[in-house]
Amino acid sequence: MLLRLKMGLPQRQLDAVLAEARRFGYECSFLDDGRQLLALDGTPGKPEHRSRFEDLVGVAAVLDPGDARERHERAPGQTDHVVRVGSAVFGGGVASLIAGPCAVEDTERVIEIAKRVRDEGATLLRGGAYKPRTSPYSFQGLGRAGLEMLRAVRAEVGIGVVTEVMDPREVEATCEVADMLQIGARSMACSPLLLEVGKAGKPVLLKRGFGATVREFLLAAEYLLSTGNENIVLCERGVRSFDSGVTRNLLDVGAVAHLKRATHLPVVVDPSHAAGRADLVRPLARAGIVAGADGLIVEVHPRPAESHSDGAQAISVDELRHVASDMAALLEFDGRCFATQDLERASA
Ligand code: PEP
Ligand code: MN
Repeated sequence: MLLRLKMGLPQRQLDAVLAEARRFGYECSFLDDGRQLLALDGTPGKPEHRSRFEDLVGVAAVLDPGDARERHERAPGQTDHVVRVGSAVFGGGVASLIAGPCAVEDTERVIEIAKRVRDEGATLLRGGAYKPRTSPYSFQGLGRAGLEMLRAVRAEVGIGVVTEVMDPREVEATCEVADMLQIGARSMACSPLLLEVGKAGKPVLLKRGFGATVREFLLAAEYLLSTGNENIVLCERGVRSFDSGVTRNLLDVGAVAHLKRATHLPVVVDPSHAAGRADLVRPLARAGIVAGADGLIVEVHPRPAESHSDGAQAISVDELRHVASDMAALLEFDGRCFATQDLERASA
């Protein structure tokens, strides 16, 4: 490991860095006359050591973490970690489509949407029973009743379900109906929730907070990975920008391309919450796939005007057909493939 120490460090702070390094079993040597570059050798590095050094007042930066690799980091030459959820496959050159309403509203309507999105190539149904809303007066989701609806839809349509959990106390009940647990943008930094969801052992869809840096996003994933759960899919859903008058959020396609290099975890794009407008979902979906995303999560509603939440960004089933065919074509161009129910049957 290589540390850069602050310039003109008081002896007390320097001693604290050296003492901590020796306590971890490192041999310390300065690489420069100014005693700013401190090489630590002699024992295998650990992510905990790296974090401790980052927290010490005398350390300006951990320049090279050596082999203290965090669990999300892609080692040189390491292949994608592939996450499978029923017929859906994320990573390893395969991408999947998740589609459905913003919120679960009534059983018949969700069954109708589930059948239609499945017929267009979606291998997972999305739909929130618990809705993280900015205002406490907005529709909050149907809660446990919504979970029961998802249970009925799953049994009737035979499609896997992704649904959000916001409260650690609801993880167990949500696991009974969900094939994949979603952690929403507003909850991304809630470490007790991350740990509880990680421990549940189900695949997780982790959405990036709208004000979170890529590093903060990856460290949220690290909380999940630290529980031993490896089936984590990252979701870029747009970050706050200065121009919310045009799009609701700014889809960070640069982050998608970067994440595909920095981590072995799969990455999906949510063009719906990024755009906030139905007419921009298709182009943003295309951008996400071209940037390297391993899938899309899209909000669909047959009658957006009746939707209890996010109606403005809900696309029709006809538009989803275009999104799915664009996705298939772009993946083929890229030498990748689109996971469908048929692919699963063919390889079974
Ligand atoms: C959602 O996907 O239902 C949702 C609320 O999105 P986000 O957490 O990204 O705002
Ligand atoms: Mn929504």
